[in-house]
Amino acid sequence: MNAEKITRAACLIGWPAAHSRSPLIHHYWLRQLGIEGGYSIEAVPPEGFAEFVLNLSGHGFVGANVTIPHKERALELSAPDDRARAVGAANTLWYDGDTLRSTNTDVEGFINSLDAGAPGWEGAGEAVVLGAGGAARAVVFGMLERGIKRVHLANRTIDRAQAFARQFGTSVTPLAWEEKEAVLPHASLLVNTTSLGMKGQPALALDLSPLSPRAVVADLVYVPLETPLLAAARARGLRTADGLGMLLHQAVGGFELWFGQRPKVTAELRALIEDDLART
Ligand code: NAP
Repeated sequence: MNAEKITRAACLIGWPAAHSRSPLIHHYWLRQLGIEGGYSIEAVPPEGFAEFVLNLSGHGFVGANVTIPHKERALELSAPDDRARAVGAANTLWYDGDTLRSTNTDVEGFINSLDAGAPGWEGAGEAVVLGAGGAARAVVFGMLERGIKRVHLANRTIDRAQAFARQFGTSVTPLAWEEKEAVLPHASLLVNTTSLGMKGQPALALDLSPLSPRAVVADLVYVPLETPLLAAARARGLRTADGLGMLLHQAVGGFELWFGQRPKVTAELRALIEDDLART
């Protein structure tokens, strides 16, 4: 390698280090932009996580993505921004001088994917969100930041929806799971943040006929790419956004922080990941 070139490397820290598409995405951008850099998967068990993260640069990294089960611990060990704090989890780490900072790029991943695939999705400013886990917190934080006025939040475990609403304030109305259909006529946007519809899981049973013909339907699940929910929405002629769009767009911010250039989510990159998903 040319000694004058500075090689920067980032990684994904997880345990177990599950099969992830992040290396494919980041290597694609490194190649496209002609940047000498690397992105690896680092299998780090919970008992070794603090040492690894607090000495990230000593391990040879300018930053990292963090995944299950480390996202909450990553927040505690770094200086988080408002997004990571609101979501309660950090998925991206980088150095600002000597300070290890963190954010949660699922927020911009979701919003930028909608902007790219379904512009004008804000509609009249009301949304229905299904699920109240970590992904829902990123989705709702992004929506409220963007000016959505009311979020109807339905969750199987109502206590979790109520706790969620207490955290986010009066713009979020908690609902019992059985009440989700009743609020659909109000929604410009419906988002599934549960794992229902994922390969191996039951489909999300929901009658979409009360939705406005201008509504947008988004699903965070990306295996399969077309979930039963998205198939039903398309059959009704509604605009949709799939989970792969969010996955690709959430990777942009970390790449820019580590390697100094903002990469693009292209049709070619999407096709590359679609191929990988189809093979595995
Ligand atoms: P999580 O914190 O474990 O939350 C899971 C949510 O799904 C909870 O609200 C849970 O309800 C609900 N749920 C699970 N099984 C259900 C069932 N049988 N019926 C009704 N509700 C059910 O998980 P998460 O991190 O938020 O992730 C949620 C989904 O988003 C996953 O499929 C994940 O792969 C996907 N995701 C995608 C992206 C992307 O980039 N596309 C990013 C992040 C997450 P209870 O509270 O009642 O248990």
